[in-house]
Amino acid sequence: MEFKDKRIIVTGGTRGIGKSIALSFAHEGAWVAVNYSSDDESAATTEKELARLTPKFRIFKADVSSRPDVEKMTKTILDEWEHVDILVNNAGIINDKLLMFLNEDDWERVIDVNLKGTYLFSRAIIKTMIGRKFGRIINITSPSALQGRAGQTNYAASKGGIISFTKSLAKEMAHLGITVNAVCPGVITTPMTANLNQEIKCDITDRIPMRRLGRPEEVAEAVLFLASPEAAYITGQVLAVDGGLT
Ligand code: NAD
Repeated sequence: MEFKDKRIIVTGGTRGIGKSIALSFAHEGAWVAVNYSSDDESAATTEKELARLTPKFRIFKADVSSRPDVEKMTKTILDEWEHVDILVNNAGIINDKLLMFLNEDDWERVIDVNLKGTYLFSRAIIKTMIGRKFGRIINITSPSALQGRAGQTNYAASKGGIISFTKSLAKEMAHLGITVNAVCPGVITTPMTANLNQEIKCDITDRIPMRRLGRPEEVAEAVLFLASPEAAYITGQVLAVDGGLT
């Protein structure tokens, strides 16, 4: 019960990697708040699973790219729980197209959800962390940010921005007991990657030194480590969980 009574927000925590992170914290005794955008079915399933693990949890339908949504959600949590110890900025989307087919809306939506969402949530909870001189912020980035990937200029830019954001905020917050790190999952089996066709999956697997896709739980383990007391002196880092891909 390493995280007993710690108060945690996991954005996009109702399915895939975010769900695994949320359930892992709940399993360790934490109070867990998650949000999601549109998939009500997986939210209902996650709600039942969280209820089995922890008496203190909240699920919100709130768009991470909308300031009013983020302010409403974080105000509700802070009114009820008084503070937040750990924030995991996990919510993310892809919309892959070659640049010549990528219109302004395709660009803006991915940047808004992935990068602006990380900014909005971090900003909304940072004051409570500063007040208590304790906090952990963990942002989810991607190998596309480190290596680039054709068809992902929007996604790679958003995830590269998250790395730069992480390193800068880490420097702002280091003397205040708040660490800010990023986790970089490789290719993980989640609804986001479920639609890749078999040929692409085989091609990707060939490029992963461990010759397999990752599991959401393997990403969650890294997030819990960075949130733990054992990681107190680690900040501004990008921890890849990718079977050797990057
Ligand atoms: P997923 O599509 O399975 O889940 C994404 C979650 O984010 C869902 O709960 C969804 O409701 C939520 N979400 C999406 N847009 C939102 C919005 N506007 N507001 C609030 N919530 C929103 O994706 P996943 O594969 O679990 O990915 C999770 C994170 O990990 C993402 O940031 C993704 O970019 C990153 N990532 C995934 C992989 C992978 O292989 N799956 C690899 C590297 C990085």
